[in-house]
Amino acid sequence: MIYDLIIVGLGPAGVGAAIYAKRSGLNVLCLEAEAPGGLLNKINTVDNYLGFPHTTGPELAVQLFQQITKLEIPYKIKKVTEIEAGEIKKVHCDDEVFEAKYIIVASGRKARKLGLKNEANLVNKGISYCAICDAALYKGKDVAVVGGGNSAIEEAIYIAKLVNKVYLIHRRDEFRADEKLVNDLKALPNVEILYNSNVTELIGEDKLEGIIVNGDKKLDVACLFTYVGYEPEGDFLSELGITDEKGYIIVDENYQSKADGIYAAGDAILKKVYQIVTAASEGAVAALEVVRRVKNNK
Ligand SMILES: Cc1cc2nc3c(=O)[nH]c(=O)nc-3n(C[C@H](O)[C@H](O)[C@H](O)COP(=O)(O)OP(=O)(O)OC[C@H]3O[C@@H](n4cnc5c(N)ncnc54)[C@H](O)[C@@H]3O)c2cc1C
Repeated sequence: MIYDLIIVGLGPAGVGAAIYAKRSGLNVLCLEAEAPGGLLNKINTVDNYLGFPHTTGPELAVQLFQQITKLEIPYKIKKVTEIEAGEIKKVHCDDEVFEAKYIIVASGRKARKLGLKNEANLVNKGISYCAICDAALYKGKDVAVVGGGNSAIEEAIYIAKLVNKVYLIHRRDEFRADEKLVNDLKALPNVEILYNSNVTELIGEDKLEGIIVNGDKKLDVACLFTYVGYEPEGDFLSELGITDEKGYIIVDENYQSKADGIYAAGDAILKKVYQIVTAASEGAVAALEVVRRVKNNK
């Protein structure tokens, strides 16, 4: 079967696109590598999404999933490994190839690594990129969070409710996060902020036993949660030549990439604001552009 549209990724951008495409009558298929909801499954509080003054990422992810199932939007849990351009695009997964006239890439971003020796080895053994997944494992222990943006601070506040003590390690002398968040963090009695600080070494071979900060200060922490930025997920796009040097997809005002018929939305694209509300809206705009082209047969 040749689909009208294949959507890669079912985070807010992919779901936004899928709702508009399906309701407009397109023959659509969604491919998601992990779980519908995308990053929402891994974030704690969401206080800035309209209509939901105070919710959590997983709660919002459930709402998105219910909307997908209610609209009977077809989806498969499969990781896309390659996309071939052309009038009919081929979307490769490990064990299957799908075909579509149009594609919307909504594959988001992944957490950037610190780049320290043995980091890869210690993931899930004391290095975590997801507080909501792992913080409860460290009840009563001391942990560290590295980063200085909204994500780091939001997650540090969440972690502090569960553990004995949080060291917040920030490389600058002030935060670049929302003032309210910073004030909430500073009010917590079990958070110690280390400014002008970098994690320089991870201690432990098969399990994190501590960290070294600024070359000489040892902290006996059981886990290091890292929030030092994000990078695109787009290894599967490398053949298409539609990304900048960092891997972000470059799109025009209709969210079309350089490759005709291949659109992109959400955190995967080069833009200014990386939020749920922007991702959902970009997905909707891209889908409506595809709807227009399918209906006009061009
Ligand atoms: C800690 C943290 C806190 C945040 N807090 C807020 C907040 O309070 N408010 C707010 O508005 N935003 C917040 N954000 C940002 C928000 O989560 C993102 O902007 C939003 O999730 C982007 O949506 P997306 O659909 O583009 O990508 P994602 O949500 O990342 O979804 C992408 C999906 O694509 C899938 N995928 C990736 N590669 C493939 C592949 N090859 N094949 C198939 N599927 C693939 C992934 O599995 C994922 O499900 C936060 C982010 C973080 C990290």
